[in-house]
Amino acid sequence: MPADPAAPAAPAAPAAPAAPAATPAGAAGFAGTPGAHDPEAVSRLRELRAFLLDLDGTLVLGDRRNHGLTPLPGALELVDALHRDGVAVGVLTNGTARPPAAQAAVLRSIGFDLADDAVLTPASSAAEVCVRAGHERVMVLGGDGVSGPLVDAGIEVLPPEGHPKVDAVFVGWFREFGMDHLEAAANAVWDGAAFYSASQSLFFASAEGRAIGTSRAICAVIKDLTGVRPTIVGKPSRHALRTALHRLGVRPRELAVVGDDPELEVPMARRGGAFAVAVNSGTGHAGSFDHLGAARRPHLIVDGVDALLALYRSAG
Ligand SMILES: [Mg+2]
Repeated sequence: MPADPAAPAAPAAPAAPAAPAATPAGAAGFAGTPGAHDPEAVSRLRELRAFLLDLDGTLVLGDRRNHGLTPLPGALELVDALHRDGVAVGVLTNGTARPPAAQAAVLRSIGFDLADDAVLTPASSAAEVCVRAGHERVMVLGGDGVSGPLVDAGIEVLPPEGHPKVDAVFVGWFREFGMDHLEAAANAVWDGAAFYSASQSLFFASAEGRAIGTSRAICAVIKDLTGVRPTIVGKPSRHALRTALHRLGVRPRELAVVGDDPELEVPMARRGGAFAVAVNSGTGHAGSFDHLGAARRPHLIVDGVDALLALYRSAG
């Protein structure tokens, strides 16, 4: 039974020398530093029915081209422990270099026990968004990883060539981007096509450090030319969270979202009413959330998923 953090402070608390100061309302569980955790937040780990895990910087690190993925310490074991307990596991990356099923196969090849449909990308939520909006023809700036889920959803995908009539433009991982692609996409947006971006992240975490996100860079040029802002379908958008909740079959308060990027997973989780866990193994660091108000901080901050697994086990 965890200690009740709302109870009046006892005259002496010798067993908890590192206990944090009382947190403001809404900040329950935020301890401020890795290693000091609110018992109430730790105990909530066992009440959750699903975990949505970020990939780069949380479960794995790869190189600048997002290849050569290596599991981070505790990542394989965390997924296994959740499976054993009957907790649903999803992986949500903002990367669209590969279709979700191909990404799942890569993850299985390095030891993760993950089915094809456990992996979600911004293309997964783009497909949901486009179907809901009634988009039938979509110009895609990217490879199979960007177009695959749209094709699977029955949407006609067109390359960024010439001047076709399309309902939407969707930009993802596209290192091959050039002026002809830009012209085709800008013409489509000028003609009134909806404009979607997989991710507005400046960087993703790689083993070689920060690598530029292509969707952000490409969309910046299209936005500058057309004056139209893209709708983000990946993290931290509500579209991405909604797609994950559908796939995992849970409500927001039953879901933990775990990630390393202070701009992505924690904001998405807090805005959507999910349990937010920050890891310091990628883009963020221990002080990344210090400037935020209580309602925007993570419920837990840990050094990595190995530390999260230890807390999860300790809560059982
Ligand atoms: Mg990440």
